[in-house]
Amino acid sequence: VTMAINSTEGTEFMTAELLDGKRIAGEIRAEVAEQVRQFVDDGGPTPCLTAVLVGEDPASQVYVRNKGRACDKAGLVGRTLRLPAEISQQQLIDTVQGLNDDPQVHGILVQLPLPSDGNGGAGFDEQAVLDTVDPLKDVDAFSPVNVGLLMQGRPRFLPCTPHGIVQLLHRCQISVAGKHVVVVGRSDIVGKPIAMMLAQRDGSCGRDVANATVTIAHSRTEDLGEICRSADCLIAAVGVPEMIRADMIRPGAVVIDVGINRVNDRLVGDVAFDEAKEVASAITPVPGGVGPLTIAMLLHNTLLAARLQSGRV
Ligand code: NAP
Repeated sequence: VTMAINSTEGTEFMTAELLDGKRIAGEIRAEVAEQVRQFVDDGGPTPCLTAVLVGEDPASQVYVRNKGRACDKAGLVGRTLRLPAEISQQQLIDTVQGLNDDPQVHGILVQLPLPSDGNGGAGFDEQAVLDTVDPLKDVDAFSPVNVGLLMQGRPRFLPCTPHGIVQLLHRCQISVAGKHVVVVGRSDIVGKPIAMMLAQRDGSCGRDVANATVTIAHSRTEDLGEICRSADCLIAAVGVPEMIRADMIRPGAVVIDVGINRVNDRLVGDVAFDEAKEVASAITPVPGGVGPLTIAMLLHNTLLAARLQSGRV
């Protein structure tokens, strides 16, 4: 782990430890690759992830391509099913149903957002499409069954970005047990599940990356600054560039920045990194923090899906 860099020369003065998500994602990807090799050696099927990409959104195309490459490198099969934005809701649902029925496909990922002008101009019903994915192939962990199992503390698939955060905390030996975690953002993809995971009694990485006292903040929260300042660990999943300023961070707090925002062709997080790093004890950069962990955990889930479907858990 990169420790605090203090330079007396005056050019670089950093107090916070940088939490190197890119390095940790590399570790996890190598571990998954090894587990895949063993699984296949033992007679298991090569795990296959199929991404469904509707329309031509450039960012989605990049995401899907990166996921496919990551699969290849880890010895999984990564396929992409490209569909025109003009297809109907029913055709899309039938396509997902076809993947549910295909025994060679272990994980299904519907790349979001679906085009708003799709389905003959009516827009797609995203929820209905996601609800079609077989819960045993639901590597994003979006289905009500998988969300419910997580809520009850007996998860099957963990959602990739929150799971990546848990892995990051664990591998950087940051314990949140008994501490106050403030999550800013309440999305189904990040805010809600990470809050739930850190509040559990038993976490996927043991009791140290669980047992937190969690506050969920959102756009209607009053006194957001004061609430954030009371956090031992502050997790920002807002989607507003650099909205978390230094004066919202308690000195010595751990700051996890989930935000990925494009500003003038540059990626910035939800945290004003340059000033936050002078206050926090540890912080994730953007890019290179939480982002790379999401794909690593997707590979992990695809292997788990292959295990579950082949009865080799
Ligand atoms: P989202 O669905 O748009 O949710 C954003 C949340 O932030 C909402 O709960 C919203 O509150 C809250 N919020 C918005 N403005 C706020 C404000 N001024 N003060 C307090 N709360 C505010 O976003 P998301 O999907 O969770 O994504 C959040 C960020 O993480 C985005 O930048 C996204 O690109 C990034 N992301 C990264 C990864 C990754 O690292 N791989 C994965 C997913 C997302 P309301 O509920 O009241 O509207």
